[in-house]
Amino acid sequence: MAKQIITDLDLKDKKVLIRVDFNVPMKDGKITNDNRIVAALPTIKYIIEKGGKVIAFSHLGKVKTKEDLVNKSIKPASERLSELLGKEVKFIPATRGTELEKAIENLKSGEILMFENTRFEDLDDKKESKNDPELGKYWASLGDLFVNDAFGTAHRAHASNIGIAANIGEGKSAAGFLMEKEIKFIGGAVDNPVKPLVAILGGAKVSDKIGVIENLLTKADKILVGGAMMFTFLRALGKNTGKSMVEEDKIELAKSLLEKANGKLILPIDTVVSKEFSNDAAHSTVSIDNIPADEMGLDIGSDTVKLFSEEISKAKTVIWNGPMGVFEMPNYAKGTIGVCEAIANLENSTTIIGGGDSAAAAIQLGYAKQFTHISTGGGASLEYLEGKKLPGIASISEK
Ligand code: ADP
Ligand code: MG
Repeated sequence: MAKQIITDLDLKDKKVLIRVDFNVPMKDGKITNDNRIVAALPTIKYIIEKGGKVIAFSHLGKVKTKEDLVNKSIKPASERLSELLGKEVKFIPATRGTELEKAIENLKSGEILMFENTRFEDLDDKKESKNDPELGKYWASLGDLFVNDAFGTAHRAHASNIGIAANIGEGKSAAGFLMEKEIKFIGGAVDNPVKPLVAILGGAKVSDKIGVIENLLTKADKILVGGAMMFTFLRALGKNTGKSMVEEDKIELAKSLLEKANGKLILPIDTVVSKEFSNDAAHSTVSIDNIPADEMGLDIGSDTVKLFSEEISKAKTVIWNGPMGVFEMPNYAKGTIGVCEAIANLENSTTIIGGGDSAAAAIQLGYAKQFTHISTGGGASLEYLEGKKLPGIASISEK
């Protein structure tokens, strides 16, 4: 069954609670990247246009000490939202109480209010993070409708997402546009992909991605493996990997995944190696059969880029998680760039990136526009790729 989306709700003159993900990076009280606020604008603007009353809220970081009640205030994000909208955003420095309740009562259609960091409720007994039943019920009582646009926290079962959804009433919750996009693209690619589906997996650790590999093995036609995780697989094949990053305790698991994969899993044939984890150290490209004992693999090699590009060129759907190498260092970014190029060359295919560092890599390397969808969630997109039911999505009303 499909989830309700915001366009299914009648918003006029309604008090619309909207859970956004404004968990933005901050330094000295200043926002260093406002992508997440920008990403929520279409949904907020839509509510305003339709004459709803916007009551927005989000968590910001973790709240453990009294100092956090100062440092983790979400006020800077509400100010940035106001700048972006060119409109007043009334900030209420509380997560409950008379001031908040009065402000909501006085809110007019088309106006917007934001209340304090939802995790301020975590200070004593983790009411937000443990989905305290009283808290979800209270927040739900503040509005008529609930819109969840916080995909980044969809893998969490907190009061500000599932608690409110459970209490707002039958048919009164919906996904915002950002959430809808994630469900459509990641959900669609995993559950109902146009074939052939080629998955590209890389990044730091096999152990982080076991669930993703296992789920995609059942769905994908090919799985291309790069990144540091390739070396654990190469060890499973009995190869010497020198000083490369290997998870010794996952070699057996890699063996069994290779068996299960039955030829679907394609490993690199060459790698860029260096004696040091450094962009300035000497490096060379070697066959995976000739990795020197005193060197480590930091990227896939150019022959592997060709091999992977060939496979990618046949795909109608591509799901990518995990950089092919240490893309943060230009000398080891070529594999990741090569895969970006191969994806950029596809026509009429759906191409999706999930994962925090993977999304950062595509953006940093200048390929953001070449993908159908770059997921905004790190942990949430990984769990979605694992085929898990995300509580934040599951709790939204069905159409
Ligand atoms: P994501 O956040 O997209 O899920 P990961 O966190 O799993 O991705 O992995 C990203 C990290 O993996 C990057 O910081 C990158 O430098 C690192 N990495 C990729 N290849 C290697 C390698 N060969 N050796 C060491 N680190 C690597
Ligand atoms: Mg990461």
